[in-house]
Amino acid sequence: MPTSCIICHLPIDEKSEMYDECPNGHAAHTSCLREWLTHSLKCPLCNDKYDDNIIQKFQAYIEKKEQETQKALKLQMEEENKIKIKEICKNMVFLKTIEVIEKLTKQKEYKKALELLDGFTNDDDKKHEIMFLRGKINFLRGRYDMAINHLFKLVKQDFEFPDAWLYLGRSYQALGLDDKARWAFERAN
Ligand SMILES: [Zn+2]
Ligand SMILES: [Zn+2]
Repeated sequence: MPTSCIICHLPIDEKSEMYDECPNGHAAHTSCLREWLTHSLKCPLCNDKYDDNIIQKFQAYIEKKEQETQKALKLQMEEENKIKIKEICKNMVFLKTIEVIEKLTKQKEYKKALELLDGFTNDDDKKHEIMFLRGKINFLRGRYDMAINHLFKLVKQDFEFPDAWLYLGRSYQALGLDDKARWAFERAN
Protein backbone atom coordinates (compact mmCIF):
# COMPACT_ATOMS: atom_id res chain seq x y z
CA MET A 1 0.00 0.00 0.00
CA PRO A 2 1.53 3.32 -1.01
CA THR A 3 2.11 5.70 1.86
CA SER A 4 0.68 9.20 1.62
CA CYS A 5 1.92 12.37 3.23
CA ILE A 6 -0.14 13.36 6.29
CA ILE A 7 0.42 17.02 5.44
CA CYS A 8 -0.22 17.39 1.70
CA HIS A 9 -2.11 14.05 1.38
CA LEU A 10 -0.28 13.17 -1.84
CA PRO A 11 1.36 9.76 -2.15
CA ILE A 12 4.99 9.45 -1.13
CA ASP A 13 7.24 7.67 -3.60
CA GLU A 14 9.55 6.00 -1.12
CA LYS A 15 12.20 5.38 -3.74
CA SER A 16 12.58 8.91 -5.06
CA GLU A 17 11.16 11.21 -2.37
CA MET A 18 12.57 12.18 1.00
CA TYR A 19 10.24 11.72 3.91
CA ASP A 20 10.24 11.58 7.70
CA GLU A 21 8.05 9.82 10.20
CA CYS A 22 6.65 10.70 13.61
CA PRO A 23 7.23 8.19 16.49
CA ASN A 24 4.03 6.42 15.40
CA GLY A 25 5.16 5.99 11.81
CA HIS A 26 3.05 8.74 10.21
CA ALA A 27 5.00 9.77 7.16
CA ALA A 28 5.32 13.21 5.63
CA HIS A 29 7.38 14.59 2.78
CA THR A 30 10.53 16.17 4.16
CA SER A 31 9.68 19.42 2.38
CA CYS A 32 6.14 19.37 3.81
CA LEU A 33 7.38 18.57 7.30
CA ARG A 34 9.91 21.41 7.16
CA GLU A 35 7.06 23.92 6.75
CA TRP A 36 4.88 22.15 9.31
CA LEU A 37 7.61 22.29 11.96
CA THR A 38 7.68 26.08 11.76
CA HIS A 39 4.11 25.96 13.16
CA SER A 40 4.27 22.97 15.49
CA LEU A 41 6.75 20.32 16.61
CA LYS A 42 3.97 17.74 16.94
CA CYS A 43 2.66 15.32 14.32
CA PRO A 44 -0.52 16.83 12.79
CA LEU A 45 -2.17 13.41 12.86
CA CYS A 46 -1.43 11.96 16.32
CA ASN A 47 -0.12 15.04 18.08
CA ASP A 48 3.03 13.23 19.33
CA LYS A 49 6.21 15.26 19.31
CA TYR A 50 8.70 14.48 16.53
CA ASP A 51 11.97 12.90 17.55
CA ASP A 52 14.70 15.32 18.48
CA ASN A 53 16.94 14.15 15.64
CA ILE A 54 14.20 15.07 13.13
CA ILE A 55 13.61 18.46 14.76
CA GLN A 56 17.38 18.98 14.89
CA LYS A 57 17.59 18.48 11.14
CA PHE A 58 15.25 21.42 10.56
CA GLN A 59 16.36 23.58 13.47
CA ALA A 60 18.14 26.19 11.36
CA TYR A 61 15.17 26.52 9.04
CA ILE A 62 12.69 26.76 11.94
CA GLU A 63 14.76 29.51 13.55
CA LYS A 64 15.12 31.40 10.30
CA LYS A 65 11.35 31.27 9.77
CA GLU A 66 10.73 32.35 13.35
CA GLN A 67 13.03 35.34 12.90
CA GLU A 68 11.26 36.27 9.68
CA THR A 69 7.91 36.09 11.42
CA GLN A 70 9.17 38.24 14.30
CA LYS A 71 10.60 40.75 11.88
CA ALA A 72 7.34 40.95 9.96
CA LEU A 73 5.41 41.34 13.20
CA LYS A 74 7.72 44.10 14.37
CA LEU A 75 7.37 45.93 11.06
CA GLN A 76 3.62 45.59 11.26
CA MET A 77 3.59 46.96 14.82
CA GLU A 78 5.79 49.87 13.83
CA GLU A 79 3.46 50.63 10.95
CA GLU A 80 0.43 50.50 13.27
CA ASN A 81 2.18 52.75 15.77
CA LYS A 82 2.99 55.26 13.08
CA ILE A 83 -0.66 55.39 12.09
CA LYS A 84 -1.71 55.74 15.73
CA ILE A 85 0.75 58.58 16.36
CA LYS A 86 -0.38 60.32 13.19
CA GLU A 87 -3.97 60.01 14.36
CA ILE A 88 -3.09 61.44 17.79
CA CYS A 89 -1.23 64.38 16.22
CA LYS A 90 -4.12 65.07 13.90
CA ASN A 91 -6.45 65.06 16.85
CA MET A 92 -4.19 67.36 18.87
CA VAL A 93 -4.04 69.84 16.00
CA PHE A 94 -7.80 69.69 15.73
CA LEU A 95 -8.32 70.31 19.47
CA LYS A 96 -5.81 73.15 19.44
CA THR A 97 -7.53 74.74 16.47
CA ILE A 98 -10.94 74.31 18.09
CA GLU A 99 -9.53 76.09 21.15
CA VAL A 100 -8.38 78.99 18.97
CA ILE A 101 -11.72 79.07 17.16
CA GLU A 102 -13.56 79.26 20.48
CA LYS A 103 -11.31 82.08 21.63
CA LEU A 104 -11.87 83.98 18.38
CA THR A 105 -15.60 83.44 18.69
CA LYS A 106 -15.58 84.91 22.20
CA GLN A 107 -13.68 87.89 20.84
CA LYS A 108 -16.34 88.17 18.11
CA GLU A 109 -13.70 87.51 15.44
CA TYR A 110 -16.22 85.42 13.53
CA LYS A 111 -14.65 85.73 10.11
CA LYS A 112 -11.28 84.50 11.30
CA ALA A 113 -12.93 81.66 13.18
CA LEU A 114 -14.82 80.56 10.07
CA GLU A 115 -11.65 80.74 8.00
CA LEU A 116 -9.94 78.38 10.42
CA LEU A 117 -12.86 75.99 10.16
CA ASP A 118 -12.45 75.95 6.38
CA GLY A 119 -9.13 74.19 6.91
CA PHE A 120 -11.02 71.10 8.07
CA THR A 121 -13.34 70.80 5.09
CA ASN A 122 -12.30 67.23 4.23
CA ASP A 123 -11.96 65.95 7.77
CA ASP A 124 -14.58 63.25 7.79
CA ASP A 125 -14.60 62.13 11.42
CA LYS A 126 -14.89 65.74 12.64
CA LYS A 127 -17.49 66.67 10.05
CA HIS A 128 -20.40 67.12 12.45
CA GLU A 129 -18.48 69.12 15.00
CA ILE A 130 -17.31 71.43 12.22
CA MET A 131 -20.84 71.82 10.85
CA PHE A 132 -22.06 72.69 14.33
CA LEU A 133 -19.38 75.35 14.83
CA ARG A 134 -20.17 76.85 11.42
CA GLY A 135 -23.81 77.05 12.43
CA LYS A 136 -23.12 78.44 15.88
CA ILE A 137 -20.68 81.10 14.65
CA ASN A 138 -23.09 82.19 11.94
CA PHE A 139 -25.83 82.48 14.53
CA LEU A 140 -23.56 84.59 16.75
CA ARG A 141 -22.70 86.96 13.93
CA GLY A 142 -26.37 87.33 13.08
CA ARG A 143 -26.36 85.30 9.85
CA TYR A 144 -29.37 83.26 10.89
CA ASP A 145 -30.17 81.96 7.40
CA MET A 146 -26.67 80.54 7.06
CA ALA A 147 -26.79 79.18 10.61
CA ILE A 148 -30.03 77.36 9.81
CA ASN A 149 -28.53 76.04 6.61
CA HIS A 150 -25.57 74.42 8.42
CA LEU A 151 -27.46 73.26 11.49
CA PHE A 152 -30.38 71.80 9.57
CA LYS A 153 -27.99 69.81 7.40
CA LEU A 154 -26.29 68.61 10.56
CA VAL A 155 -29.38 67.42 12.46
CA LYS A 156 -30.53 65.61 9.32
CA GLN A 157 -27.29 63.60 9.47
CA ASP A 158 -27.00 63.40 13.23
CA PHE A 159 -30.31 63.62 15.03
CA GLU A 160 -28.64 63.25 18.46
CA PHE A 161 -26.91 66.62 18.58
CA PRO A 162 -28.78 68.69 21.20
CA ASP A 163 -26.62 71.80 20.80
CA ALA A 164 -27.30 71.84 17.08
CA TRP A 165 -31.07 71.75 17.76
CA LEU A 166 -30.61 74.50 20.34
CA TYR A 167 -28.87 76.89 17.97
CA LEU A 168 -31.24 75.92 15.20
CA GLY A 169 -34.11 76.94 17.50
CA ARG A 170 -32.40 80.18 18.41
CA SER A 171 -31.83 80.98 14.74
CA TYR A 172 -35.51 80.38 13.90
CA GLN A 173 -36.47 82.48 16.91
CA ALA A 174 -34.25 85.32 15.76
CA LEU A 175 -36.07 85.25 12.41
CA GLY A 176 -39.47 85.31 14.17
CA LEU A 177 -40.27 81.73 13.10
CA ASP A 178 -41.64 80.74 16.48
CA ASP A 179 -43.33 77.49 15.47
CA LYS A 180 -40.16 76.16 13.92
CA ALA A 181 -38.15 77.42 16.89
CA ARG A 182 -40.40 75.50 19.29
CA TRP A 183 -40.08 72.39 17.12
CA ALA A 184 -36.27 72.62 17.30
CA PHE A 185 -36.12 73.42 21.02
CA GLU A 186 -38.22 70.34 21.78
CA ARG A 187 -35.53 68.21 20.14
CA ALA A 188 -32.72 69.94 21.99
CA ASN A 189 -33.77 68.37 25.27
ZN1 LIG B 1 3.62 16.15 1.49
ZN1 LIG C 1 1.92 10.81 14.07
